[in-house]
Amino acid sequence: MNLVVVGAGVGGLAVAVRLAAAGHRVTVLEQAPDVGGKLGVHEQDGFLFDTGPSLLTMPHVLEELFATTGAPLAEVLPLERLEVACRYRFPDGTVLDLPGDVAAIPDALDAALGPGRGAQWSAFLDRARRIWDVTHEPFLESPIGLPDMVRLSRRLDDVRTVAPWRTLRGLGRQHLHDPRLVMLLDRYATYTGSDPRRAPAALAAVPWAEQRWGSWYVPGGLGRIATALRERLELLGGEVVTGAAVAEVTTDARGRVDGVALADGSRLAADVVVANADARQVYGHLVRTPAARRAAARVARTTPSLSGLALLLAVDGPPPGQPHHAVYFAEDYDAEFDAVFGRRGRPRPVARPTVYVAAPDDPAIVPGPGTGAWFVLVNAPPHDPDHGTDWDAPGLAERTADTVLDLLAERGTDVRDRVRHRTLVSPADLERRTWTPGGSIYGSSSNGPRAAFLRPSNASPVPGLFLVGGSSHPGGGLPLVLLSARIVAGLVGPALR
Ligand SMILES: Cc1cc2nc3c(=O)[nH]c(=O)nc-3n(C[C@H](O)[C@H](O)[C@H](O)COP(=O)(O)OP(=O)(O)OC[C@H]3O[C@@H](n4cnc5c(N)ncnc54)[C@H](O)[C@@H]3O)c2cc1C
Repeated sequence: MNLVVVGAGVGGLAVAVRLAAAGHRVTVLEQAPDVGGKLGVHEQDGFLFDTGPSLLTMPHVLEELFATTGAPLAEVLPLERLEVACRYRFPDGTVLDLPGDVAAIPDALDAALGPGRGAQWSAFLDRARRIWDVTHEPFLESPIGLPDMVRLSRRLDDVRTVAPWRTLRGLGRQHLHDPRLVMLLDRYATYTGSDPRRAPAALAAVPWAEQRWGSWYVPGGLGRIATALRERLELLGGEVVTGAAVAEVTTDARGRVDGVALADGSRLAADVVVANADARQVYGHLVRTPAARRAAARVARTTPSLSGLALLLAVDGPPPGQPHHAVYFAEDYDAEFDAVFGRRGRPRPVARPTVYVAAPDDPAIVPGPGTGAWFVLVNAPPHDPDHGTDWDAPGLAERTADTVLDLLAERGTDVRDRVRHRTLVSPADLERRTWTPGGSIYGSSSNGPRAAFLRPSNASPVPGLFLVGGSSHPGGGLPLVLLSARIVAGLVGPALR
């Protein structure tokens, strides 16, 4: 079959690799000059910054993709497991180096936070593991459907384990009696762009998966994953065309997909189109059938996930001992969620946000010794000039970035006089670069018990059209996006030989 993939994000590239390996003729059309989408890179004066993901979890998903389509990942792109998954600094000044080995976590928690904290976290993780066991196959690795839900709802033990009526925060409070552990757990809700007070307890599977399979880095930067996927696709005979914006996914008289129309006026015929573009763009603009309009109305009922303001800092003489990943918690985490999701008023920038710093110790990404390529990120509301925050308002991103550096200094890491140059990537910039409405990082958020069911499914209601990537099932983040590619490749099936 002739297949067109709209978008060369991780989801688009991964599905293209699988479909090319299954014998299809695959063309990937990407509007940007480079592949990768949100997994972007920025190079300046010998500094190489990842502008998107800085942490790879569940590496076996990426390994399986490479192993089943050619040379194994280890030969193409060796990964590095981090001994310290992340350093957390809590508002009371306590510092926790969370080990990358799950067996070492309880002792580290007892040592940093006080006796008994390790046992609390272990009890929580045990519940999280059971949630994972019940949910990963039907909810993360299959196209979700009514039969899965019915099957699950009949097994009362499983329903009690997943506790669909409970929030992540609520589940945390049941097991964790130290507010710092609750804060640690809250952080994981943000990895799906959600509010822990509204996200379902099922998200406990996120810390479980991270701690079970560890935290990983790609020497040379995570952006290399996109390059490796592109190279694998081309080895399999697939084609990537950059600078090719798709204006419409066209349909025949019966409403079945028959190709795409590009912004330059050209057309490309296709038996199947896989859209990696954000679902709101796909159903709102690219497909113009009644089925697409109904799907657009459904997507409009979801809450967009949060976005972020990224600071790419070229640092001279970075402070010694800075870990690969560090999180400097806000004094008031709830105020942060209230601001970004607009709980009291419009969504707005956070006055004193939690600050995340990725400072890889990697000679491949800096111009020389004594320099650092730092990626600093704070949660931010999506770009929404009409109803929320206008990130293009003069001075807003720069002022917010200054506040972030002041906060870092207050919390013990002052690099203000060591920054050689800085580049900001605001939610508005992310929207422009990746054509993601508002620059939402993870598609729709998981806020509310029905969120997972409102997220667009991989098989669209438009015959011949499939959706892949973070705005469709099973959600955002590299491992889930890779799983969504596996699901879509399964739905399309192999070429008839
Ligand atoms: C700041 C930031 C930090 C993150 N941190 C992490 C992390 O540490 N770990 C992690 O696992 N995940 C992280 N993520 C999330 C992760 O990057 C995403 O979930 C994932 O990369 C999304 O991939 P995707 O394929 O769904 O979509 P995208 O990357 O959005 O790709 C979609 C592509 O489609 C193209 N496109 C759109 N419309 C059209 C059109 N009409 N015609 C042609 N092309 C089009 C876009 O240009 C884009 O290249 C982070 C993301 C960001 C932004």
